[in-house]
Amino acid sequence: MAKRIESPSSINTFKQCQRKYYYQYIAKLPTLPNIHQVRGNIAHSTLESFYEFDASMVTTDNCAQRIHARIQELFVRHWQRYTQELDKLHLNNDQQMFYFEETMLMLMNWANQFIQDLQAQAAVKNISFPEAFQQLTPIREQRFHSDHYSVQGFIDAIHQVEDQIQIIDYKTNASFEFKDAIKLQLAIYSLLYFEKHGIKPSKVGIFFLRHKLKLMDVDEELLDLARREIELVHAHTSRHEGLEQYPRCTGPLCKWSTGQCDFFEVCKPFEGKTSNGQK
Ligand code: SF4
Repeated sequence: MAKRIESPSSINTFKQCQRKYYYQYIAKLPTLPNIHQVRGNIAHSTLESFYEFDASMVTTDNCAQRIHARIQELFVRHWQRYTQELDKLHLNNDQQMFYFEETMLMLMNWANQFIQDLQAQAAVKNISFPEAFQQLTPIREQRFHSDHYSVQGFIDAIHQVEDQIQIIDYKTNASFEFKDAIKLQLAIYSLLYFEKHGIKPSKVGIFFLRHKLKLMDVDEELLDLARREIELVHAHTSRHEGLEQYPRCTGPLCKWSTGQCDFFEVCKPFEGKTSNGQK
């Protein structure tokens, strides 16, 4: 059986619950949209298009005002573009307003930090704001694909900082932690970059939009983590295609106070189990 093309999401899903991987990537059952995904997409689109800004009129005096206005305008535009997806979630007006305002605040938080970086760049290098803006503009939404590892991924932003490369992903997560799934995602991005360019990025990290940027060094250990986990998934998925070969991993990710796994109804994870989870 040929190797499947994996991604950081599919690999993390496999590690989380193999049955879930089976439903999503082999049976290709539809997943259900949720507000966290939709507003995450809106935030990503806003930040991606932010850099198409004509910065020629930006000065010390108007920098903060113009950047805030730009983010607000883009966010509203992208929120409207997602009207159909938002309507499918059947949120009431209060809920929609809550997520709209919360996401706007996250983007304003990002904008405030960008303004600080812009001011610092212009001052330290003694250059104009438009020049500083250009230097801080990353390569955005790049697709990386490896035939060798049979993995692909989309990297939100690649920054050149002096002679260093930094790979950044944006997240709206509440937590400011590099959980294992995030570390693996960043390890895979580093490996994909290394394979394509022949050099390791210096750092990878997450811009947690509620908080701030958090980076980690890229070393051989991180690349080995990616290689090992990719290989483990291929070793299984290139040999097995049957539902029974993808066991359930029942636990808190099946159902929680405000939601449930997309495949809960078809999976029926707790059917036939006693209250203590035993068959
Ligand atoms: S409901 Fe639970 S066991 Fe079933 S696929 Fe989802 S996470 Fe896995």
